[in-house]
Amino acid sequence: MANRAEDFYQEFFGGKGSIEMPLVALRDTVVFPRVAAPIIVRRERSLLALEEAMRHGRILVLTAQKRSEPEEVGPNDVHQVGALVKVRELVKQPDKSVRILVEGVARVRLKEFVATDPYIKVRVEPFPEPAVKKTERTEALMYSVLNQFRQTVNMGAAVPFDILLVILNVSDPWLLCDLIAANLDLKVEEKQQVLEASSVEFKLNIVSQALGRQIKLLQMASQIQAETGKELDKMQREVFLREQIKSIEKELDHLGGKSEDDLKSRLEKAGLPPEVKEKAMKEYDRYKAMPAFSPEVSYLRTYLEWICDLPWNVKDESKIDITQSKKILDEDHYGLDKAKERVLEYLAVQKLVGKIRGPILCFVGPPGTGKTSIGKSIARALGRKFHRLSLGGVRDEAEIRGHRRTYVGALPGRIIQGIAASKTRNPVFMLDEIDKVGIDFRGDPSAALLEALDPEQNNVFSDHYLEVPFDLSDTMFITTANVLDTVPPALRDRMETIEFPGYTEEEKLHIAVDHLVPKALKDNGLAKTGCVFADGAIRALIRGYTREAGVRNLERSIASICRKLARSVAEGKKICKKVTAADVNGFLGPEKFAESEAEEKDVVGVVTGLAWTETGGDIMHIEVTAMPGKGGLILTGHLGQVMQESAQAALSFVRSAAVQLGIKDAFMKDTDIHVHVPAGAIPKDGPSAGAAMAAALVSLLRGAKVKRTVAVTGEVTLRGRILEVGGIKEKVLAAHRAGLKTIVLPSKNRKDLIDIPPEIRRELKFVFVDEASDVLEAVLVKTDGPRPPAAKTKKPLGKRGRRR
Ligand code: ADP
Repeated sequence: MANRAEDFYQEFFGGKGSIEMPLVALRDTVVFPRVAAPIIVRRERSLLALEEAMRHGRILVLTAQKRSEPEEVGPNDVHQVGALVKVRELVKQPDKSVRILVEGVARVRLKEFVATDPYIKVRVEPFPEPAVKKTERTEALMYSVLNQFRQTVNMGAAVPFDILLVILNVSDPWLLCDLIAANLDLKVEEKQQVLEASSVEFKLNIVSQALGRQIKLLQMASQIQAETGKELDKMQREVFLREQIKSIEKELDHLGGKSEDDLKSRLEKAGLPPEVKEKAMKEYDRYKAMPAFSPEVSYLRTYLEWICDLPWNVKDESKIDITQSKKILDEDHYGLDKAKERVLEYLAVQKLVGKIRGPILCFVGPPGTGKTSIGKSIARALGRKFHRLSLGGVRDEAEIRGHRRTYVGALPGRIIQGIAASKTRNPVFMLDEIDKVGIDFRGDPSAALLEALDPEQNNVFSDHYLEVPFDLSDTMFITTANVLDTVPPALRDRMETIEFPGYTEEEKLHIAVDHLVPKALKDNGLAKTGCVFADGAIRALIRGYTREAGVRNLERSIASICRKLARSVAEGKKICKKVTAADVNGFLGPEKFAESEAEEKDVVGVVTGLAWTETGGDIMHIEVTAMPGKGGLILTGHLGQVMQESAQAALSFVRSAAVQLGIKDAFMKDTDIHVHVPAGAIPKDGPSAGAAMAAALVSLLRGAKVKRTVAVTGEVTLRGRILEVGGIKEKVLAAHRAGLKTIVLPSKNRKDLIDIPPEIRRELKFVFVDEASDVLEAVLVKTDGPRPPAAKTKKPLGKRGRRR
């Protein structure tokens, strides 16, 4: 289509920069390129201009008047951008006016008025449309404009059916805007803005706003109709009209509420900083000067209400008392010593410096390990409000920083909303799941987060909606994450992590007895009944009904039992006061989880590995088998990229060191190897199963049995070195739960054992290894068979090292 306009410019401008044309000024409409429009020409000079046009190619310039009053327009009375049109039909009316049907051809800009008598002649230059690039953003905007348009049509906006079809099927966003603007009852200024737009995004935005307003008006109209319709008596036309006037007044009052206005005094009292006050007062004057029925009134009012409601200078009295804080943290939480220590240090620094300094705290750990709850305790200890904002799934920068006010339905971002909700400027503000923040075409929320979290610049945090800076420097931000890897690096740099590693069964038991059970009994109105949970019952819940690093499901299960008890009490039944392990089954049904268990006997080709998941640790049986084939490697069990690569590395190591490992070196020539890690549907990833895979391969190829009570974790390199891995505490706990006795760990992980409770450490044997051969030593059952024993493989082995 743009080409057509270009051809046209070529045809009529013929390479010249500008040409002269007769002009007709339009009083109450705008004509768009590529859109047909009926026009009635009445004024003397306009009729003469039309005559001139009909003599010379039926071409004419149409521009809208800035105001509709002037009969005789001069250069200052019309908009500078108009449309060159072709006159398609012309019908003379009995009253001497002429009805024409024009087709807009191209956008032009007026350069000067050449003559005003007998008709207006202007010099115009081309004003081409920019090339339209379809980006995700324009697609998204177009989609929303189309939706709004549908809504207006559904609500009764009159659009001819054939045009409706064209609009709903047009793919060019530029034309879409022009068609909608031309066919809906928009204000002349709005239409003119659409015509003049210099970018398609801007154009879509204007149309979207105009449609938003239309929808509001249509809603109002239907509301008025509904209200009056109920009482309509055909005979009482007068009454009908009065009712309608009343409804309109009510609606306007509701919209503007301009009569009973305490807004000004509220603004005066809101303690606004000087520059904010200046801006707010300006907006207030604008608001006052607006006619009550202007659609902008309600937007401005909402804005001013937000300004009034923000706690610009409201702070909670907050004293930092370290001893008291320690007491509160200990009162609310069992264990978590490291986290508590670090939090207290943080508060101590704050107390001495008098301001929030240094990196933001980031609590990292699986769900239900007490991160949110420690945050709440900190707020309690400091005597401040607590606000929690979940960032999971936030992908739009505007959610953090707000929409600009020009958007329909714009609001401040969630940070400012949170501050408004806490009604003070210094709450403890927890940003949950910062690792789940996403980036896509709607912008990068982490940029806005960075600004909010950076103590150097957050005293002038800018929210798009507010348009004035807000001081966040007294807000104590704490973030939480399940894993650190997916936190955007720029954010990670600004944070200090505190690990919440997950609980052992003993710890869970303590937490349940001290905190979860009393809380659940209280919440369910059972506090005075003297009900208790036996330790055995809690252990049964931990083992059979939950599989998690935290205690969230445990808390739920306890609550669920309490609800059932509460019901019995309410029904007047007699309840047994002590819930025991045997009762749990009756309350909650059969166990949901069977513990992963060690193999029942020593087998060939199956090694127990240890996995670390978001919900804690688990054991996994890595199975390897061989079959006739052509040297292929098959990997199954929903293995992630890294895990697949580590299986390949393990195989390459075994192949390259085959001889030293006591394996026939050409085993791959006519064999396919299959590595499988059940359960097949659960995704697994990470390099830490490498050592276990290598051991399983050697076991299979050597026909040596694996000791069933040994678990292995560690990454293996091509040279057979065993490297350090993560999640040791969770893995060891899982191995212990599963009844394993020996754990093979990389030497470098020796330091991590400190996190493991001594009673569990005592029950397990740890073997620290540096080389794959050490792993084999620990894992494989020694046989007196004919095969050579595993040799150390300290040096890398190239091809030359192999025997043929
Ligand atoms: P997260 O934020 O880490 O997902 P929550 O803080 O919501 O976890 O904890 C879930 C529940 O477990 C809360 O009711 C919390 O009080 C309780 N909880 C977790 N850890 C402890 C603990 N160490 N002591 C007492 N209660 C705890």
